Amino acid sequence: MTGCFGGPALLYLRPKTLDEAVALLASSSGQVLAGGTDFYPALGERLPQRDVVDITSLAEIRGISFESKWIRIGGLTTWTEVLRTPSPRCFDALKAVAREVGSVQIQNRGTVAGNLCNASPAADGVPPLLALDAEVELTSAGGSRRVPLSQFITGNRKTLRNADEILSAVWVLRQIENAPSAFLKLGARRYLVISISMVAAVVQTDEAGRVSDARVAVGSCSARAQRLHDLEQALIGLPARSGIGAAVKGDHLSPLSPIDDVRATAEYRRDASLTLVRRALEACVGAR
Ligand SMILES: Cc1cc2nc3c(=O)[nH]c(=O)nc-3n(C[C@H](O)[C@H](O)[C@H](O)COP(=O)(O)OP(=O)(O)OC[C@H]3O[C@@H](n4cnc5c(N)ncnc54)[C@H](O)[C@@H]3O)c2cc1C
Repeated sequence: MTGCFGGPALLYLRPKTLDEAVALLASSSGQVLAGGTDFYPALGERLPQRDVVDITSLAEIRGISFESKWIRIGGLTTWTEVLRTPSPRCFDALKAVAREVGSVQIQNRGTVAGNLCNASPAADGVPPLLALDAEVELTSAGGSRRVPLSQFITGNRKTLRNADEILSAVWVLRQIENAPSAFLKLGARRYLVISISMVAAVVQTDEAGRVSDARVAVGSCSARAQRLHDLEQALIGLPARSGIGAAVKGDHLSPLSPIDDVRATAEYRRDASLTLVRRALEACVGAR
């Protein structure tokens, strides 16, 4: 059977519950649609080639909730909801992302989960959540599984998600929730821009004012965002005060593999990332 415009006859499905949604995915080989802000641009002039499972009515996976050990970001939580939900300081970096993703219209529609599932190297939501050791929950008709975000994204627009799975939640352990965090993004202009480099940092301090835990992640400078583990180790025990950025050396950026493209050269990306990492750490200790 052909649909209108001569394409294949497709169904647009709008389930009301997560159970219904995963059952439809299992039976229809449909593709998930959330805010559509990556989905539709990716189609360009083409029509969808498979059934569309619109998950925007799944109220049960919308919003942020605080449990005793974990913070749960539901799989349909928009950037605007991230901004409006009172949350601990370790979420300041994610809120800074929410403020800068596209425009207000994009923030109202676009979801955190969509950003992670689309898995662009320039997805701004990835570095702050990597820095929080976030885990993603994937639900299918067969049940749920949890995967560390560091493993979930495997490459440029590649993830471990199976076609019949919905990213139903992002989980963050309540471990360093009062640690200051920062997110800095460099683009060719101030707003509505794809990142040339972006950095998220979280710095926890002990009672003596020294760094007891530090997490730094850089995006747009490799096929998937990277944590700078050697730098994180080098920061432990340093006084958490102005000047901490001087501890960041070029070698600490060795996990990155930036490329030349229309937005910037690899060399510029590396240089800009060094500056952004230093500034993000200064912002964290300045906000203590
Ligand atoms: C003008 C404009 C500006 C933008 N600016 C930025 C920016 O500054 N920074 C940035 O990072 N991004 C930006 N984006 C990209 C986009 O807005 C974000 O990545 C957004 O978070 C995507 O979420 P969504 O709900 O719209 O995803 P969708 O477009 O609905 O989906 C994206 C992909 O993820 C899949 N998917 C979505 N949700 C789920 C789920 N819960 N489970 C399983 N699969 C799912 C879909 O099948 C699709 O493949 C911009 C986009 C536009 C159009």
